[in-house]
Amino acid sequence: MRLGPPIPTLRRMDALMDNYARFPVRLARGQGSRVWDDQGRVYLDFVSGIAVNTLGHAHPRLADALCNQARRLIHCSNLYRIPEQEQLASKLATLSGLERTFFCNSGAEANEAAIKLARKYYHDMGSRRRTVITATQSFHGRTLLTLTATGQEKVKRGFDPLPAGFVHVPLNDAEVLERSIGSDTAAILLEPIQGEGGVHEASISYLHHVRRLCDENGILMVLDEVQTGIGRTGHMFAYERFGIRPDILTLAKGLGGGVPIGCMLAREQVASAFGPGSHGSTFGGNPLSCRAALTVLDAIEQEDLLRNVQDRGQQLMQGLKALARRFPCVREIRGQGLLVGMELDRDVARLIELARGHGLLVLSAGAQVLRLLPPLNVSEREIDEAVAILDAALSRFTEEEQE
Ligand SMILES: *Cc1c(COP(=O)(O)O)cnc(C)c1O
Repeated sequence: MRLGPPIPTLRRMDALMDNYARFPVRLARGQGSRVWDDQGRVYLDFVSGIAVNTLGHAHPRLADALCNQARRLIHCSNLYRIPEQEQLASKLATLSGLERTFFCNSGAEANEAAIKLARKYYHDMGSRRRTVITATQSFHGRTLLTLTATGQEKVKRGFDPLPAGFVHVPLNDAEVLERSIGSDTAAILLEPIQGEGGVHEASISYLHHVRRLCDENGILMVLDEVQTGIGRTGHMFAYERFGIRPDILTLAKGLGGGVPIGCMLAREQVASAFGPGSHGSTFGGNPLSCRAALTVLDAIEQEDLLRNVQDRGQQLMQGLKALARRFPCVREIRGQGLLVGMELDRDVARLIELARGHGLLVLSAGAQVLRLLPPLNVSEREIDEAVAILDAALSRFTEEEQE
């Protein structure tokens, strides 16, 4: 392309790609579980930047930690040792029992690293295992490898040719899984609760079955806890509730409390397949993002947030179940802790709009599931308030359907 005349200044939106269907709201600031838009309207934020703002908005300790770190060192690259990164990896190892961590910047990158590690592990062993089994309705990211791992057609359309080596099976069907395992199977990759796919939980017996199949067949069990990890379900990691441990674990969303950071953890023996030069990331694990994650993990402990997630989660679940009994369009309430889905018998888009009109931000998980992801430090009063707003929004929603 030849260099043409300069482009006149475009209206702000026109210079962005159209890959997001954005709500007509511009958020200007936040405090705890609340956000304000540029018109001064206040909302209760039960989206948390899609399970990212673990400590809510403008948490003083996180803000101070970031300011202090920015004054010392933001970035230096992995050419050098980074004490914040070493400290965070050691903390994560203590919490998870997985000895080694690789840091990156997003969930997709964490899963990409997990798939690469699984393949490299078997390659180095001289084994031909390369295939990864994942679940239908799953979501693992938007890179070519992770959208191929994802069990939803809509994220793949138009992006072929896709990389080879993935098989999809329905969640919670142990028989189909067992039949899908072959001599080429390297890993089984699952979300303990499918977040984007509609808040569908893997059952305890299924995950135990997966663990057993992996052990018996020499396959790696990989858990994608990008959404369920870092306290979201009332445990630091959702798998703790199942009493099993994966061989590889991926984290991102809530880890940095809003600062981009992702990571992949693995047990020592598996991690050894990533020697010098095998994989990397320029930004991954820089001092700023690791300081953010260390502060988030400290706050979860010091503010007893896992306990709060369990209590507030129960309160939210009970409140929503009471609504479900009164509004026939509500089919089911599902989830764990503060990852909660309300399935309707119809599209939820209009209900989300009505909730926003009443001052509550929520999101969807598929067409018919409304998803609630408040910050882990949400208060009892804020949960009551959210349920009351949903009550009003559902009343209006039902009236509109009848008009
Ligand atoms: C959001 C999400 C991802 C992708 O994370 P990005 O940071 O958007 O790349 C992967 N897996 C799960 C389970 C997610 O919820």
